Amino acid sequence: MSRIAYVNGRYVPHGSASVHIEDRGYQFADGVYEVCEIARGYIVDMPRHLDRLERSLRELRIAWPMGRKALETVIREVVRRNKVTNGLVYMQVTRGVARRDHYFPAADTPPAIVVTAKRTDPRAAAAKAEKGVRVITVPENRWERVDIKSVGLLPNVLARQKAKEAGAVEAWFVDPDGTVKEGASTNAWIVTGEGTLVTRPAESGILKGITRATVMDIAKKHDLRVEERAFTVEEALAAKEAFITAATTVVMPVVAIDGQPVANGHPGSVTLALREAFFDVAEKTLA
Ligand code: PLP
Repeated sequence: MSRIAYVNGRYVPHGSASVHIEDRGYQFADGVYEVCEIARGYIVDMPRHLDRLERSLRELRIAWPMGRKALETVIREVVRRNKVTNGLVYMQVTRGVARRDHYFPAADTPPAIVVTAKRTDPRAAAAKAEKGVRVITVPENRWERVDIKSVGLLPNVLARQKAKEAGAVEAWFVDPDGTVKEGASTNAWIVTGEGTLVTRPAESGILKGITRATVMDIAKKHDLRVEERAFTVEEALAAKEAFITAATTVVMPVVAIDGQPVANGHPGSVTLALREAFFDVAEKTLA
């Protein structure tokens, strides 16, 4: 089946979809993005993702490329045209196309928008969750505004590639004080011996994950304690469980950090229960 992309007002074949060479996203990483999970024919937590997109755009003073309702329609249409029942929908908005110059372009320059969708295999994801994943740690080397979901992801790309080459799937950025910030494309969590979920406060140098917010909703519903505070790599290694969250992975157990096992080196029961409960608690929009 041929894939379809939405590019600046048109639905086009994915294979020939393109943006201009002077798109500011291409030249300056001057743009933002969102990724929503599609599960069982539903777009997961779309309102929260669009709220965060609105915030990212506002922080960078990029205008909405179209009305929010119109964007929702485009997202659903891209998912539908690609016949995606389980997968991901990606949207990217940049400051548009202009002669290369660091200054913002003229105020009437339209932002550029791309929406794509791809299928993923839920059985492969379930098999991965059954085993858990390994992470490595890398020194934090990103800019301070990682709360903005910008397409400037070079440190994240290098960190994840390093993880892959080390036989892991994710890299955790660690501050000089030894505390874990977040993964290159995920938020980081531990479960303490007392069963408390611990994750770094979103106000201190991480992306405020949408999956993270939904996990907090699950915790509230099931009377699990959540502490938003920094934790160290040592604390994670001594924890009962560790896991990562993102729209791309939902809740994924972490079984090793830098080659050392977390607890007994197997996915934890709290983590797996959160993964199980996720779809029921998340907000679902029919695709
Ligand atoms: N942290 C970073 C750096 C990310 O890139 C992502 C997702 O791409 C996340 C956390 C998780 O965010 P979400 O749950 O909204 O996918």
